[in-house]
Amino acid sequence: MLAPQVNRVVVLGGGTAGFLCALALRKTLPQLDVVVVRSTKMGVIGVGEGTIVSVVHFLHNFLGLDSQAFHAAVEPSLKLGIRYLWGDRPFFHYTFTPQLTGRPEGLTLATGYYCDEDLEFADMGSALMASDKACLRGPGGAPMLGGGFAYHLENRKFVEHLESLADTASLTKIDDIVQDVERDEHGVKSLVLSSGQRVEGDLFIDCSGFRSELLGRTLGAERVDFSDALLCDKAVVGGWARTDESYHPFTTAETMDAGWAWRIEHDDLINRGYVFSSAFLAPEEAEAELRRKNPKIGETRVVPFPAGVYRETWRDNVIAIGNSAGFVEPLEATAIGMICDGVLNVVRALESSGCRPMPAQRRHYNQMIFKNWTIIRDFLAMHYKFNTRLNTPFWRAAREDVSLGDIAPLCDYYREVGPDFSLLGTDLKRDFFGAEGYLAMLVGQRVPFAREVDVSAKERAAWDAHRRSLALRARDGMGVRECCEWLRSRGLPQVVRGQGALGWA
Ligand SMILES: Cc1cc2nc3c(=O)[nH]c(=O)nc-3n(C[C@H](O)[C@H](O)[C@H](O)COP(=O)(O)OP(=O)(O)OC[C@H]3O[C@@H](n4cnc5c(N)ncnc54)[C@H](O)[C@@H]3O)c2cc1C
Repeated sequence: MLAPQVNRVVVLGGGTAGFLCALALRKTLPQLDVVVVRSTKMGVIGVGEGTIVSVVHFLHNFLGLDSQAFHAAVEPSLKLGIRYLWGDRPFFHYTFTPQLTGRPEGLTLATGYYCDEDLEFADMGSALMASDKACLRGPGGAPMLGGGFAYHLENRKFVEHLESLADTASLTKIDDIVQDVERDEHGVKSLVLSSGQRVEGDLFIDCSGFRSELLGRTLGAERVDFSDALLCDKAVVGGWARTDESYHPFTTAETMDAGWAWRIEHDDLINRGYVFSSAFLAPEEAEAELRRKNPKIGETRVVPFPAGVYRETWRDNVIAIGNSAGFVEPLEATAIGMICDGVLNVVRALESSGCRPMPAQRRHYNQMIFKNWTIIRDFLAMHYKFNTRLNTPFWRAAREDVSLGDIAPLCDYYREVGPDFSLLGTDLKRDFFGAEGYLAMLVGQRVPFAREVDVSAKERAAWDAHRRSLALRARDGMGVRECCEWLRSRGLPQVVRGQGALGWA
């Protein structure tokens, strides 16, 4: 059967997902007619967002966004990882660098075996985080940024910049509300707008956020609930103008009575949000707890969210990307990374089929995207299952009831062997988080393991010397503000721009 030719793509939604998708299609398949339909009255989600490393590569290497213009307009801050106030250590770092998969000189065991007492300064990423530095200084005072960083973005500024690029790329935009959807044998035929205008297309990308206008509401696709692994269903969000607070090069994730709270860093603003389970805490109580711990917080709002995803995010001629496809809480800040992953694979399917995507490509896309969502779900479940910091009803339920899903065997392996994942490396290569991610959370939370390991005094001394030397080098690094100012006037150094994409190359 010959698949229908795609000549005209309609993107519904003008948030991060909609504009990233439209820009990617314009760049890679300029022969396509691309239309963005969105309602400025309905607006975008508008929260402060952390990202992962692959987003940086997507923006600058794949989309080719000019990094100086991007930094000047969006003013992202740099994120080297997450500081977890979690488990029984005062805190630990999950870095974007090989903290626990690297092997420092003079050590014979996997790094995690030396981290029983202290995980700080285990690698340069962690040392920079501990010292509140964004990077080391390079020749001529340029920031020495390797590949291991991501951004903190302010959603509205980010979307405004993407929209201005869409204008430069002469993408057609329509500002109106979709009131009805007409269907035919291929799925969706046209969007009917409140003005009465009909917008027809061959392929519809549903980036309508939580409304999921096309995939969910129109096609009635099956949604898979993730609440057996992820108990939280709401966030209370707020912030305050920065005064004398340290400008951290990381997101903070802090254990709270019935969930956890993020702290995201911006130049003039500290953004905080408490992700909680309304089965354990009423929104007013969550707000009161957040305010008690953050007395400077201003106005707050409660954002409800559904934990779950559509089993098939590409159905008929509709592909959902962004919150319209699925949502898991932002504990690892993976949503924009998943948008980039979706966009990249849609582009691949169109490119490799001459814009006539075949059913086998759709099937493969659906399997791959669903698998990635479940990998994220299970990784987050591990954060809940092993966090021993608090003994509130919520955390007791999390430890007892949360299902580890497909990563239960990996956790069992760790409980026997400990933090040496060299045998699992190949299996984990295609996993979103890789060995590094699992080890950071297992070692960080000090999950006990059976293997008894003797670390000799000589090796212990080598480990301490390694950490001391990193701490000393990091101390003279560049702070976040200084580094961001440099990037806003000169853009990213070549070394970063030229690097291959991580994860999805
Ligand atoms: C509390 C919270 C915290 C988050 N934190 C993070 C984080 O740290 N990191 C991260 O990566 N992600 C995070 N996310 C997710 C992130 O916000 C989204 O992945 C991202 O902003 C993409 O949103 P979107 O484009 O899918 O949807 P939206 O921004 O909601 O955009 C939807 C668009 O569709 C349009 N639209 C909808 N219906 C219609 C209609 N009928 N007619 C016309 N237009 C319509 C709207 O006008 C809008 O333009 C968080 C989400 C929440 C709720």
